[in-house]
Amino acid sequence: MQVNNVNLRISAVRPDQYPKDGFPEVAFAGRSNVGKSSLTNVLINRRNYARTSSQPGKTQTLNFYDIESKLFFVDVPGYGYAKVSQKEREKWARMIETYFSERQPLRGVVTLVDARHEPTKLDKQMVDFLHYYDLPLLVVGTKVDKVPKSRRNRCVSQIRKGLALRQADQVVLFSAVDKTGKDDVWAWIEKQTGV
Ligand code: GDP
Repeated sequence: MQVNNVNLRISAVRPDQYPKDGFPEVAFAGRSNVGKSSLTNVLINRRNYARTSSQPGKTQTLNFYDIESKLFFVDVPGYGYAKVSQKEREKWARMIETYFSERQPLRGVVTLVDARHEPTKLDKQMVDFLHYYDLPLLVVGTKVDKVPKSRRNRCVSQIRKGLALRQADQVVLFSAVDKTGKDDVWAWIEKQTGV
């Protein structure tokens, strides 16, 4: 999809704040620093649109980006900040649980892991949670420019195994540096949302 118009519609914490346009939407989840803003920026052809690494301690919100008034990208705040208190963590968990379990227009979730490393325990927990809610899942292995081409197949197997992916779940290796995987991520989004 050719994207020219993007607007941050709302930063929401509660369901009554979610947009009511009825556009289909895709959510993006991943631990902080995994490359989520970089992926979003490549998808929408912007250099610096999606906020880079929202800071720990700041209000954690679900950010709804209107893409061409056809769909929403929903930026789910990153998990895995060591410094965040237990109370903050519980608040985050409640917010995303409500979102993933109740949000009707949600057509799928892109979940990001670092392609260079084994998925972490928190990555696995996120995938288990998305499986529990039976949400269509695309796992994006980020920063693949750092992985030699000869090792990339092994990366995919490592991700599939480490996250106990189901057959229907797709994996795409991605690089924000050389744009590897961009078209495949878009193809998945288009298929899920019908845009
Ligand atoms: P976020 O916290 O998940 O939004 O992560 P960012 O998109 O801000 O990226 C975190 C860091 O990883 C930044 O220093 C990026 O420049 C770097 N990074 C993100 N994507 C890539 C990539 O595809 N390749 C490389 N080499 N570095 C990346």
